Amino acid sequence: MPDRRLPVIAVLATGGTIAGAQADTASHAYQAGALGVERLLDAVPGLAQLAEIQAEQVASVGSQNMTYAVWATLAQRIDSLCQDSSVDGIVVTHGTDTLEETAYFLSLVIRHDKPLVLVGAMRPATAPGADGPANLFHAVALAGCEAARGRGPLVVMNEDIHYAREVQKVACAGVNAFASPNRGRAGMMRGTHAQFFSRNDTVYGTASEFSIEMLNAVTWPRVDVVHAGVDMGSDLIDFLATKAQGLVLAGVGDGNATDIAMRALQRAAAQGVAVVRASRTGTGRVGRNVEVDDDAAGFIAAGELSPQKARILLMLGLLVSANPTELQAFFDRY
Ligand code: ASP
Repeated sequence: MPDRRLPVIAVLATGGTIAGAQADTASHAYQAGALGVERLLDAVPGLAQLAEIQAEQVASVGSQNMTYAVWATLAQRIDSLCQDSSVDGIVVTHGTDTLEETAYFLSLVIRHDKPLVLVGAMRPATAPGADGPANLFHAVALAGCEAARGRGPLVVMNEDIHYAREVQKVACAGVNAFASPNRGRAGMMRGTHAQFFSRNDTVYGTASEFSIEMLNAVTWPRVDVVHAGVDMGSDLIDFLATKAQGLVLAGVGDGNATDIAMRALQRAAAQGVAVVRASRTGTGRVGRNVEVDDDAAGFIAAGELSPQKARILLMLGLLVSANPTELQAFFDRY
C-alpha cells in the first residue's frame, strides 16, 4: 500500500476550560487556561496516527477575558499559517464563553480557504469524563479534511460541526451546550469522518471587505449592547450615547423596546451613533420597518445575528463607514 502522508495541522491554544485544571477532581471549581497545549495534546488518544501536529500557545485565558489584542495576534498567526503551504489545516483551542464571537470575527477577516476549526470543552481537562480530548480529536480530524475547505471557520463541539455565523453557546453547563439555532448545524463528526449536511451559504472572509490589515494601528470602535425588558428606561442609553460609536439593542421580540428607550436610541442615532436592533430571543430574524420605522429613526436591523455577533460586525463595519445605509448593507450581507 502506498504511504499516505499525514496532514500537518497547526494547533493554536488560547486557554479556556479545555485547558482547565481543578485543585480537586470532586469539585466543580477549576481554573480555565491553566494547562499548556502539550498537556491537551497528550490527552488525546490516537492523535499521532491522525496528523502531524505543530503546537503553539497563543494565549492562556478564560475566554471571558478574550481581548481585541489577542484576536489581532491570533488572526495574524492564522493568516501566516494559511499562506504556509506545508500546513494543511489549523485548529484553535478556545474557551466556550466567547468561542462564537472569535469564530465569527475570524470569519470576517481571514481571507483564505484553508480548513480552520475552533474547539473548546465544557468540562475541565482534569475532570472525570473530560470532553476536551474527544473534541480536540474531532477538531484535528476535521482540520485535515478536504471537505472542511472553503466553509469559513468551523466550530466542533460534542461531535457537531457548526458554521461560525450560526453557532451559539445556548447553555451554561453540560457537554451539549452548542447549537446553530437559525439554520441548523453544518454536520457531524463520525470518528475521523466529517459528514456535512449543507454548504455554507453565508458570506465569509474570502469575499469580505474586512481584513487583518485594517485592524493595524486603529483603536477599535466602542460598541455596547443594551438589554431590553419590561419598563426599560432611557438613562443608560443616553449615557452610552456619549461614550460609544455604536449601540446594539438586545431587544425584546423582533428587536423592540419601550417607547422611551426607542426614543433614546433615536436621539443617539440622530447624534451620529450607529444603532443596531437585534433580538434577545436567541433565534429568528430582525427585519427592517416591521414594528419600528427604521427608515425614519436611522436604525440598522441585525437580521439573523445575535446581539453579541451584531456587536462584532458593527465594530468592523464602523472601521469602514459610519453611514447607516452602508452599515445596513453589511448586516444584509454577513
Ligand atoms: N469560562 C470558560 C471560558 O470561556 C468556559 C469554558 O471554556 O467552557 O474560557
